[in-house]
Amino acid sequence: MALTGAGISAESGIPTFREAQTGLWSKYRPEELATPQAFHRHPALVWKWYAWRRQIAAEATPNRGHVALVGLEDYYRKKGCNFSLITQNVDGLHTKAGNHDIIELHGNIQRVKCFDSNHIIPYQDWSTQTAVPPTCPRCGSPLRPDVVWFGENLPRKVLDQAWQAAQECQIFLSIGTSSLVEPAASLAHIAHRRGALVIEINLDTTTLTAQADYLLHGKAGEILPELFAAFVNQQSGQEFTEGV
Ligand code: NAD
Repeated sequence: MALTGAGISAESGIPTFREAQTGLWSKYRPEELATPQAFHRHPALVWKWYAWRRQIAAEATPNRGHVALVGLEDYYRKKGCNFSLITQNVDGLHTKAGNHDIIELHGNIQRVKCFDSNHIIPYQDWSTQTAVPPTCPRCGSPLRPDVVWFGENLPRKVLDQAWQAAQECQIFLSIGTSSLVEPAASLAHIAHRRGALVIEINLDTTTLTAQADYLLHGKAGEILPELFAAFVNQQSGQEFTEGV
């Protein structure tokens, strides 16, 4: 299984949370904007921050790291094995790249729901409204992105799927995540306890590094294509390619 974080999308031009926020938003910490309390206090500010991020995500294209994960999924499917792709990202780039079975732990920034009743509202029903934030056509409550904010619970179903994949996997790839946000950060530890090989791909060391079997230090967009080639070569009887 692979667990991805904001780092895999950094090479597609989507800023991570731990990097400095740019321009207009540099004075805010994500933790101050990505909470129900922040939305309650400053709904227009939070809506505009997400509108800015939604635009960046909509214009972004998947990079070689995303594409390598499509290759891994296809490869393991053809062999009759399971491949679970679990992402903390809300940008939809794994779907754009072509992966089929994606568990989006933290939702999707392009989807919008209402604050009070969680009604999912299609784009055409809110995009022409002038109110900021727009309101729910069904109940009048303000609209928000359908993402999991700090302090909110993950949807039970996706959490159960992720937990099960972590318990059953043989290889766990932790890609471009600081391993700080729970419960996603625990998945690697569950897999490790169950005997899986844990491979971390990151520009930096993280709280997972000490427990990982390997740290592949560098950019996901460079390492994942090499790792994909190494898996495929190894399975077909060849040696791991150099540098992996
Ligand atoms: P994070 O910002 O906490 O950490 C990013 C990690 O990626 C860091 O460890 C960094 O060293 C590493 N990194 C940066 N560039 C990399 C690259 N090119 N290759 C490999 N590693 C790289 O992100 P997180 O751990 O995903 O957790 C924070 C929260 O941020 C999540 O809840 C997520 O929903 C949200 N988030 C999502 C997006 C997105 O959808 N693209 C963007 C920003 C934040």
